[in-house]
Amino acid sequence: MKVFVIIPAAGLGTRMTSAHGTKAKKGLPSKQFAELGGTTILFHTLRKFAACAKVSEICIALRRNEISSFKAVLEKEGKDILQKKVELVEGGEHRQESVGNALAAIGATATDIVLVHDAVRPFVTEEIIHEVIAAAQKYGAAIAGMPAVDTIKQVERTADGALIKTTIPRERVVMAQTPQGFRYEVLKKAFDEAKADGFTGTDEASLVERAGGQVAVVMGSPRNIKITTPNDLQLAEFFLKC
Ligand code: C5P
Repeated sequence: MKVFVIIPAAGLGTRMTSAHGTKAKKGLPSKQFAELGGTTILFHTLRKFAACAKVSEICIALRRNEISSFKAVLEKEGKDILQKKVELVEGGEHRQESVGNALAAIGATATDIVLVHDAVRPFVTEEIIHEVIAAAQKYGAAIAGMPAVDTIKQVERTADGALIKTTIPRERVVMAQTPQGFRYEVLKKAFDEAKADGFTGTDEASLVERAGGQVAVVMGSPRNIKITTPNDLQLAEFFLKC
């Protein structure tokens, strides 16, 4: 059994505001290339998986215009990452398309494990990676998640804002993180079905759920944040120091 890691890193990062106060757009670096302690967020993330003995190969989905520059930096500064086999593929318009392109590129067999991890979650730990792999082997699909601490409201969006419809008991809610891990055959079937039905989800587990698969949850970490906004970047700088 081999473990493949897919890192979708082709997002534009439109919720990340640049240092000049303008929204991220064409020409500005995407959030995965923002620096954290002098190293890009993507490099921090890749190093976590490169250091994991169970991982065989890493496939990174990038925006087309970032592939060649990233390849050059990887060859120059990422010798430790290149100890694993690393493949670069072109991402798509949505995260699901980026992951789908990577899934089509890896040479996995039915029972190999595929982990999908956001490029912008650099604080994943080896323990979480191991637990997701073990649960994915056992159940076919597993994600890292955190129990909800806030009270959760279901709302209806109106022109004037949100109106509460109901309160969802928080013990029944988990906030999904990554890595999300799957037996290749489970993930491939879920992707094929979603494509045939024109369904787009915001994570891979949602595709497996709609395909009728069981998805286990293992404990994530409050530090395993998805760096999305400038506020997250400040928090990440704090986490890096302690
Ligand atoms: O923006 P979002 O929260 O969906 O980003 C989650 C991850 O998916 C990020 O690592 C981002 O780079 C990636 N992504 C991608 N292709 C897209 C959109 C997002 O690889 N088209």
